[in-house]
Amino acid sequence: MKEIVIDLESEKKEILKRYRALLRACKPTMQKGDKQMIRKAFDIALESHSDMRRKSGEPYIYHPIAVAQIAAEEIGLGTTSIVCALLHDVVEDTDVSLLDIELIFGKKVSKIIDGLTKISGIFDPNSSIQAENFRKMLLTLADDVRVILIKLADRLHNMRTMEFMPRDKQLKIASETSYLYAPLAHRLGLYAIKSELEDLSMKYTDPDTYKFIARKLNEKKAERERYVAEFVEPIEEILTDQGIDAKVFGRSKSIHSIWNKMRKKSTPFEEVYDLFAIRIIIDSQPEFEKADCWKAYSIVTDLYRPNPDRLRDWISSPKGNGYESLHTTVMGPKGQWVEVQIRTTRMNEIAEKGFAAHWKYKESNPDSGLDQWIQKVRDILSSPESNALDFVADFKMNLFSDEIFIFTPKGSLIQLPQGATALDFAFEIHSDLGASCIGAKVNHKLVPISHILQNGDQVEIITSTKQSPKEDWLNFVVTAKAKSKIKSSLKEEKRKVAEDGKEILERKLKSLKVTYNTDNLNKLTQFFKLFSTQDLFYNIAKGEIDVKDLREFALAEKSVDSVNSNHFDSHVEGLVRKINKRDQETLLIGDDLQKIDYTLSPCCNPIPGDDVFGFVTINDGIKIHRNNCPNAASLMANYAYRVVKAKWTSQKELAFLTGLSILGIDDVGLVNRITKVISEDFKINIRSITISSNEGIFEGCIMIYVNSTDHLERLIKRLKQIKGITGVNRFESEIVS
Ligand code: MN
Repeated sequence: MKEIVIDLESEKKEILKRYRALLRACKPTMQKGDKQMIRKAFDIALESHSDMRRKSGEPYIYHPIAVAQIAAEEIGLGTTSIVCALLHDVVEDTDVSLLDIELIFGKKVSKIIDGLTKISGIFDPNSSIQAENFRKMLLTLADDVRVILIKLADRLHNMRTMEFMPRDKQLKIASETSYLYAPLAHRLGLYAIKSELEDLSMKYTDPDTYKFIARKLNEKKAERERYVAEFVEPIEEILTDQGIDAKVFGRSKSIHSIWNKMRKKSTPFEEVYDLFAIRIIIDSQPEFEKADCWKAYSIVTDLYRPNPDRLRDWISSPKGNGYESLHTTVMGPKGQWVEVQIRTTRMNEIAEKGFAAHWKYKESNPDSGLDQWIQKVRDILSSPESNALDFVADFKMNLFSDEIFIFTPKGSLIQLPQGATALDFAFEIHSDLGASCIGAKVNHKLVPISHILQNGDQVEIITSTKQSPKEDWLNFVVTAKAKSKIKSSLKEEKRKVAEDGKEILERKLKSLKVTYNTDNLNKLTQFFKLFSTQDLFYNIAKGEIDVKDLREFALAEKSVDSVNSNHFDSHVEGLVRKINKRDQETLLIGDDLQKIDYTLSPCCNPIPGDDVFGFVTINDGIKIHRNNCPNAASLMANYAYRVVKAKWTSQKELAFLTGLSILGIDDVGLVNRITKVISEDFKINIRSITISSNEGIFEGCIMIYVNSTDHLERLIKRLKQIKGITGVNRFESEIVS
């Protein structure tokens, strides 16, 4: 066993030292009274975590102090967040309750800590329970974005100090970080934190590659620094001459992003040209920001030739997360491409600290993309479609994809994810516009609603009052907003139609002398193999189920004795027992001695020779289904206790109804040849025959009575030999509606 010697005195000193460093980091945003608040939070955290240690053996309090420090220094959060960061593990891990927190620090702090406690579960992308957790986390984002920001600080510190965790935990936490937290940081504009999370995650999930790239970067470090100095010198000179106050420096790209480039273009490390970027940060007055950045651009491109395909103007159209910057790639000395990023101090702070910095400058930029994004998240969250897995999938899709900018006819700019269609655009502007969209004009050219938009397209939506959302729209829209609007509108539409169907059904049942009650509705739903009574109403209204079908049901109902469903369980038990007493627990079908009431289910029309099972129904005795019946899986999974084994015995001259579909080339006399084979050669009774012929293709549907699968197979073989016939197949199930 390893022994850890703890020097409590020096630990106490270290804790205080770290606390003071935290206070210094908080200073820029501190106001009167804030220091006392932070002190109180620190005291409570220190006291309640006093007998806890981290896996490394260090006092636990180091962790909340570090999380608070990240929140203050790297995200730029204020006192409320610092207090919450210090207390973030207190409610979950110690005796302090949420109410205690509320009494001391007020409602706001306790709400944020509540949010932090709720989302502490480990995130596993394969589990829907975790999807639900993720959803909860985003709900808190709609509530108070600080919950997520503190959670990110917490995650970052845990990732930085993960070496003492067991390997399996490291892997789990690292994958969860790259799956969820890094993209989230990216979306919130926290680029530095995002890169670090990605690098740390890679360090644990792919340690060999990580070490390889880190070593390579280190080897060439001195050489790279010389190159940057040579590149930067003339730029700095001219900037100073023209009176532009700017800092210019080279920045190494993250290991993860270098690895991404190597993977995407399958190039070796030596050939990845942008291992670093040059950043020009200008101290500028708000009204001159844009002009100053373009002035710097002009200086850089006078010195080095730019690649026209690599100009990105995120100043005129900032990214959805608020990111503003001017990017260009130029040809530097020794024929090497170099990326140059030009931005002002304000823009840089937003790029580094994301949301919090954005907040600080909000007044000057009220129409920010980030606010729009958070509004979008709120929209998605308030939508009635709340299947957690769908939600996470949609959300992640929107989280990852790059944005494109689309112009309205009047020139307003709309942001959409890459891959968005004309229909997504319509829904983005207004849900009514989406719902009635029949097409669009993209750059004055007519296109279908499924047309995929390109960055910079100008789109005009064409509508019709006759249009309504269609099921297949879901196949090509990509935005969560369009998806949820289409889904809820389809649902609403179906509900309305179903309401009409309900009235029609009531009337029809009355005329058939069948009572309209829940029991019969359930039976009808089962009879027509539908999922719900709403589907039943819907099918009635759409004319998919007509009086003839209902009459069939009514007849079937009357032919069985009504077993009171209250006695159902004992009824099932009795039947099963009766069967079990007999032949090896198996129901013998076609046995004369068998006194058990069974029928062959119309959903799959079993015939002797088929693999079958019996299913004890509520009022209809035992139904025999084929093992491959479309309903079999659900019956066996949900009602295993009602399933009895069954097999065929001596086949009497019994006839079983089954169906064949026949495909062929239409030809005079083909029908005659078919019926001749069936009735004359095989002496089989035909119940019905339906034929349709379309552009020379013949399609027949024949219901016949056969004795066994052998009998049927012989017939099918013979039919296939008829000239002009290309296919003969047994129905999987009878077409009921
Ligand atoms: Mn924590």
